[in-house]
Amino acid sequence: MQSFVYTASSSRIVFGSNSIDRLPEELERLGLKRTLVLCTPGQRDQAMAVADRLAGRVAGIFDGATMHVPIEVAHKAQEAARALGADSALAVGGGSTVGLGKAIALESGLPVIAVPTTYAGSEATPIYGITEAGVKRTGRDPRVLPRVVIYDPRLSLSLPMGLTVTSTINAMAHAAEGLYAHDGNPVIALMAEEGLRACATALEPLRQNPQDLAARTQALYGAWLCGTVLGAVSMGLHHKLCHTLGGSFDLPHSDVHTAILAHAMQYNAAAAPQAMARIARALGVEDAAFGIHELGRIQGATMSLRDIGMPADGLDRAADLAAANPYPNPRPLERDALRRMLERAYRGQPPAD
Ligand code: NAD
Repeated sequence: MQSFVYTASSSRIVFGSNSIDRLPEELERLGLKRTLVLCTPGQRDQAMAVADRLAGRVAGIFDGATMHVPIEVAHKAQEAARALGADSALAVGGGSTVGLGKAIALESGLPVIAVPTTYAGSEATPIYGITEAGVKRTGRDPRVLPRVVIYDPRLSLSLPMGLTVTSTINAMAHAAEGLYAHDGNPVIALMAEEGLRACATALEPLRQNPQDLAARTQALYGAWLCGTVLGAVSMGLHHKLCHTLGGSFDLPHSDVHTAILAHAMQYNAAAAPQAMARIARALGVEDAAFGIHELGRIQGATMSLRDIGMPADGLDRAADLAAANPYPNPRPLERDALRRMLERAYRGQPPAD
């Protein structure tokens, strides 16, 4: 066995159906008395229902969370936390809302409590991102890692089916790349494989019945594992490419992950055969990259970059950006091969060399 370094996450995880009932005692345990509840405008009712459980402990509600944490929104939320004398931020929502909680923590050091309602996994990482003048700056800071995460699958029952599929594949991307990370370790690999299995097996029952609580529970369990992988080890081509495409062409986060993942895996497949074998085993398929593509296609996801708003004349620039600033990846970044890969993703074709 190779040597490795493993730092376990210090988050406390409270998982299960109706675990939201335990939120008051979790705040009590942390000595928190005035939390600022965060949400998007569309999830205000859901966040209010959570706040209603916290009689006397809510400083206010800020419902302005939006994708990629624009700095103006971060400033407004930070100001609201100050003005209301909040002692913590309680994020009820997906990666955008958790991201806003992290922006508050980064500036003020206030603890974040997360109640995730998608499968993006941000709540399991010390990674923050703030967008200024169209550029998203990301970094790691232990202060932004939520102190407690309440994973209650009932809160994800309302997640629309399209987003359910792409968000689950977004989670799977963390685990897939975690399996070939240059700084990976055997504990994280176990989590990654189990996370992939849980996510993959949740999707078919959810397609048949989006209200299937057992399947929602599986998906959320998988999302936690995959998010933990994202927080623990370095990501490669797939995440860098999605970051570039999302930021440069303003494409929706989980849709980009869904359109790219199979192609990024194919690009790396020959250079990471053990990772591919584990991914294929988790999915119960012969070929990992093709299996991911089929999973998304069968679940009705949009598999083409074109259909999620990528301009054809942006492909060259995307390939240039992807090949610039090299970072650790199983296969070296070759501009022309990346350009061919992007062309296939643009057309929604299955992955190929
Ligand atoms: P999101 O948080 O933007 O949510 C998408 C939409 O779905 C929003 O309108 C939201 O209100 C709605 N929604 C969420 N849960 C719902 C539910 N249960 N019922 C009904 N509607 C619901 O999307 P996301 O994919 O979760 O997060 C994407 C963002 O998170 C991106 O900015 C991405 O960069 C970031 N992210 C960060 C990390 C990290 O570690 N820092 C990890 C993953 C994602």
